[in-house]
This record gives sequence, structure tokens and C-alpha cells, in this order.
Amino acid sequence: MSPSLTPDEWKRFLTTGSTTSPDTEPGLPCRDCGVLVAAGEGPIETVTATERERVLPVRSSEPVIRTEEILPFEIQLSQCSRCRARNRAAANLVDEYPSLSRSLGDRWYATLAFEAMLLVPDVVGMDWRSIVKGGQKSVRVAMAHFRPLGGAARWSSLVTPVIRHDATQPTRIRWRHLSEELVDRFRDAYGEMLADLTDGPRMVPPPEGNEFRTALRGCLLCGVGTATAMRNQASFVWGPLRGADPGLLGGQRLPHDIYGYLCPTCARAVASVGPGIGPTGMEKALFAFLEITPPELAEDKVAEFGRTTVQVSHLRAWCALPAGTPPNVTPWAHVSGLGELAEGLRSAIGAR
Ligand SMILES: [Zn+2]
Ligand SMILES: [Zn+2]
Repeated sequence: MSPSLTPDEWKRFLTTGSTTSPDTEPGLPCRDCGVLVAAGEGPIETVTATERERVLPVRSSEPVIRTEEILPFEIQLSQCSRCRARNRAAANLVDEYPSLSRSLGDRWYATLAFEAMLLVPDVVGMDWRSIVKGGQKSVRVAMAHFRPLGGAARWSSLVTPVIRHDATQPTRIRWRHLSEELVDRFRDAYGEMLADLTDGPRMVPPPEGNEFRTALRGCLLCGVGTATAMRNQASFVWGPLRGADPGLLGGQRLPHDIYGYLCPTCARAVASVGPGIGPTGMEKALFAFLEITPPELAEDKVAEFGRTTVQVSHLRAWCALPAGTPPNVTPWAHVSGLGELAEGLRSAIGAR
């Protein structure tokens, strides 16, 4: 990261629009990567800043950043050859993907969106051409992941419409103005995009809940903290937010329900019994995980079956454990003696 502008540099910048010191070669910053483009080597574009940020030191606290209006201030930018090639490809995509473009806005806006999209792989040192070559699917997936990020990476976003207090001088190195945090976020987005393209299964934690209820971080019954899902199922693999009464699930009664989600295995088991989450659904969920199918017992055999599987009567759902219990890595891991229990159940069924 190059240092922010010194007060002198600020003064020069705000009076001349140039951030280059007299002792460095003159040039204009590339509006995207911020690299210094020598005069005559790129197009010239003028943008206007209407506000600037000021840092106000505050004693014994973080400085306050204020935005103040300034007289409209024109700043000249250029484009380096690499960013120009990338932006040309982005402009071509507007015509190659007319329906995607229309969904983005008018032509000018769509062009900016495609430019922002191709900018992300460039920042993380990947070849943006592979996205273009990947065709329809890769362009759409990349658009979904990159468009919200790409615009923030442009050097021009440091000076327009607001001249930021942390604006940095153009240098000889591309993307030097970006913070490590931002580049990390781009890397993550790139990885997400690749995962979506290959659509391999992924581990999905339960949703956070909604604006009224915070969901527990594991399946209400088995307590597992992630479900495996393909990309297109990731948003609904956990089903709807549900309330459960821990008093019915081997725990203390509470004056209110607790809220969370069910993993697919537990959700199927519960659905086979009834709408609510009760002790029968909980047992079915455990049997489903252990891959045990208890036979339908005649009325007079129920007591006997109950005796041989006495542990099941002490079964506790994960949501009935003390608040703050971390989610399980594998389903039902909070049940001690899970192996013996499974064996007991199997032999009880076999010996019937
Ligand atoms: Zn550039
Ligand atoms: Zn579960």
C-alpha cells in the first residue's frame, strides 16, 4: 500500500488535479488499476469531484471523517493498456449477452457492470479471459458474484464523486491502492464463483433466523451444524424456521419455544409423524440417522420394545441441551453411547 497523500500533495492535487510530484515522470492514473499512464499512452477522461473527506482528529478516540462540499473539481484520468483491453472485452459482452445486459440497466450502466465483473479476476491475478471463454454460465455466475465488488476497486472511486481522505498516489504497480482486506474479499468471491461453476456439494450452516427470531446454530434435533447441499439447494436445504418445546424433547420446559431449523434427515423423519416436533418425531429422526427401521409393533408389544430400548426414553434433542452448547460436527454426537444404543436397537429389532 502506498502512503496516503501528504498535505503538500493534497494541496497540489486540489489546485492542479495532478497527484504526481514534479520529481516523478508526469502521467495520469489509470482510472481502474491506478497505475501511472505516461502522457500520450492512453485516453484521457475527466471526472468531477463534488465533495471531499476530511479527517478530524478527536482526542482519545478514533478520528472523525467528515464529508464537505467543494466547488466542482475536475480530475483527469487515463486507462492503462491492460485495463483498456479488459474494458473492451466487457463492452463486447454487453452485445453478446443482450438479456443479461437489459437486466442490468441501460447500455451505459450495463457496460459499467460488465467492467466491474471482469475487474475482480484481474485484481486477484487471475485471467479474466477464462470467464469470457466460459460462456453463458460462467458470465452469469461471475456477474452475480463480482459485480457488487468490482466497482469499489477502481482507483477512480477514491476521487469521485467524493475525494476520499485515504486516496493514494498512482504508482508503477497496478492495484496498489487496494487494501489487503479488499483483495482478500475478492479472492473469496473468486473461490465462491469457482465453487458455483463446478457446483460441487458444499457445507451449509443453518440460516440465522429472521428479524424476530435468532435461530440456533445446529439442527434442533440432531444438532449437526452443517448440511451438505449443491449450490442450487443451498438456500433451502434447512427448510423453514421452526419452534420447538425442549420440554417435549428430553429437556427442561421453558415458558417459550426455542427456534431453529431441521437438517434434511430430521425434517423428513418429523414430517412422517406430524406437523410439530415431538418425542416420536425425535426418535424417528434418530432411527433415520442410525439407518434403523423399527418394525411397526402391535399394541401389546410396545411395552416390551420400550424396555429393550430403554436408552431411547432418555433421548435428548440437541436444542434441549443448555443454551450455548456448540453445534455437533456429526448428527447426535451429544448422545453418549450412541454406538451401543444403535447395537441395542438393532438386536432388539432382530430378536423380536
Ligand atoms: Zn489499469
Ligand atoms: Zn438433524
